[in-house]
Amino acid sequence: NKQVILKDYVSGFPKESDMQVINGTMKLKLQEGSHGIVVKNLYLSCDPYMRSRMTRVEGPNVFTSYTPGSQPLTGFGVAKVLDSGHPNFKKGDLIWGTNSWEEYSLITELEGLFKIKNTDVPLSYYTGILGMPGLTAYVGFYEVCSPKKGEYVFISAASGAVGQLVGQFAKLMGCYVVGSAGSKEKVDLLRNKFGFDEAFNYKEETDLDGALKRYFPEGIDIYFENVGGKMLDAVLLNMKDHGRISVCGQVSQYNILDQPEGVQNLMCLIYKRIHMKGFVVFDYYNIYPKFLDVMLPYIREGKIMYVEDIAEGLESGPAALVGLYSGRNVGKQVVLIARE
Ligand code: NDP
Repeated sequence: NKQVILKDYVSGFPKESDMQVINGTMKLKLQEGSHGIVVKNLYLSCDPYMRSRMTRVEGPNVFTSYTPGSQPLTGFGVAKVLDSGHPNFKKGDLIWGTNSWEEYSLITELEGLFKIKNTDVPLSYYTGILGMPGLTAYVGFYEVCSPKKGEYVFISAASGAVGQLVGQFAKLMGCYVVGSAGSKEKVDLLRNKFGFDEAFNYKEETDLDGALKRYFPEGIDIYFENVGGKMLDAVLLNMKDHGRISVCGQVSQYNILDQPEGVQNLMCLIYKRIHMKGFVVFDYYNIYPKFLDVMLPYIREGKIMYVEDIAEGLESGPAALVGLYSGRNVGKQVVLIARE
């Protein structure tokens, strides 16, 4: 049973060599009386928050730290049930939810697992558009931003797992949508595949404030914040009065948590009466069935596109994961461990 473990806690940017693939052993049959399930892992999800778990976390926190040296990394993924001691799951069921970075797992904590009932869409979608990032985009836009037709929407890290969906939701609502991303390929995707009105490569802009003024001469109604730091500072200067900011993530800060960049322009929140709200997707799992009812038809009718970046093999997991922090991924970063 191949596993990916963290060698030691990480400081600064994580490297591929901070992780290691080891060979463990595991019984594929459950012990008599067990209420857990044994699964074969099919797809793993690479998510930016996993960086926070590579640090020793002291005190109460949303996330728990990984255990370096022994336990495989955990995250989201898609798996197939091989053996079950629990009445809600049977052999052959497909599930998504919390799982481990290994070929096979024994899962005893079954909360946070969802049964996959719709298999006419790619299974990998349950790590992205139909999984945690999809629900994040959905609640972060519809519940947090209170969007209205015709509003001006800006999204950072716009081509990623979450951002590409927020942009398409905003277009479906009839908003004017601009996204920023870190390469020409990503900017082209935003314009040509996801239907954004405009997009720009933030790495080519020496003056982010000026760039935003170019795309939003009248200001921004809604900012979907994935990045933080300098981008947030520039956006604050360009928000309209009564604008809304959905604080989903701040990926530019995750590797410099000991020296986070100061945001200078928070006073704009006062003068412009801006509503800025953070959220954690886990608080919204109860609306997952409603979310599926909305998303599945969108996918089937081709109203929403989804781009994935699929790395093949558990061995490719560490490079795929650290690639999130340099923008190597084009779309949702997935690791394929095994086909069904
Ligand atoms: P992405 O698929 O967007 O991957 C991360 C992307 O971030 C990279 O591809 C890169 O794109 C961009 N990036 C990396 N470093 C920087 C940097 N220093 N400055 C600017 N951009 C950078 O990830 P997700 O869509 O999965 O996640 C997006 C955000 O949502 C993250 O901040 C994440 O933590 C957050 N999140 C929050 C949740 C919640 O419950 N609040 C739940 C899930 C995600 P580029 O090439 O464009 O720079």
